[in-house]
Amino acid sequence: MAVLMLNATYEPMHVISLRRAVALLALERAQLVETSGRVLRSPSLAIPEPLVIRLRHPAPAPRRWHVPITRTAILLRDEDTCQYCGAQPGRHELTVDHVIPASRGGQWTWTNLVTACKACNAAKGNRTPEEAGMALRRPPGKPRFGQAVPLRGGRLHPAWRPYLWT
Ligand SMILES: [Zn+2]
Repeated sequence: MAVLMLNATYEPMHVISLRRAVALLALERAQLVETSGRVLRSPSLAIPEPLVIRLRHPAPAPRRWHVPITRTAILLRDEDTCQYCGAQPGRHELTVDHVIPASRGGQWTWTNLVTACKACNAAKGNRTPEEAGMALRRPPGKPRFGQAVPLRGGRLHPAWRPYLWT
């Protein structure tokens, strides 16, 4: 059970353990934002189980979460959607395309890799999108916080969603 920790400004900061969230609440360093509706009980304490907490005082924003650039990470970021034609043929039918081809100096970076279906990858070949006349649906970038959580092996709780995309 993990808890989403927001900065005082409501920006998402970290995913922390339930134990740490309870400690922050008990120390009054954080306040409850969303609860599961269940109550946690110990001999000395009964508090609503937190799903989202918010720091009472602003903390320095964390450095961008480091997410290794893997095929799975690129597909997840692009929601398993071909960035050229919009096809969603399933994960095993998708490839990772170098926007600027590797043979022409294109790097393995968030901004140079996109998800492509096999047909689009073959049609584009060793060309840039401009040369191939194939437009990208959106410019590729680093994953946002809400994408970084599952990429790092965590799971997004539905109750977190309103806080991840603002
Ligand atoms: Zn395609």
